[in-house]
Amino acid sequence: MDKIIVFQTFYNPIEANIVKSRLMDAGIQCFLSDENTITINPLYTQALGGVKLHLFERDVEDAKSILKDENVEIDLEEIEGAEVCPNCGSTNVGYVQATKKRFGIFTVIVSVLLAVYPFHAKKTYHCFNCEHEF
Ligand SMILES: [Zn+2]
Repeated sequence: MDKIIVFQTFYNPIEANIVKSRLMDAGIQCFLSDENTITINPLYTQALGGVKLHLFERDVEDAKSILKDENVEIDLEEIEGAEVCPNCGSTNVGYVQATKKRFGIFTVIVSVLLAVYPFHAKKTYHCFNCEHEF
């Protein structure tokens, strides 16, 4: 019998779903528990110990390598986002929501996973050197 284990625990249901979708896409069967309760009332997160991602013990190594690859992709996406300001030539450039950059990346990933691109049109760069937006 294959043993089912708790692979990872998340305090953010969105992050849990991203990881779950990524593993499902790769053909690894997994499921979340306590997800709905936490989505409805985030205050329960601590009490329940977070959203738990379960999968077969035999898939643990595969899951780890898949998620490792995924992290690399996220980093590349971040690097590709680096542009040069056409106004002053500075490379100190980022998305307008730079202060919420982590959330911005999550939003992009969710959009990609859902195969919709609601934020694509809002892709605006901001130069931190001269405040120029392009
Ligand atoms: Zn500039």
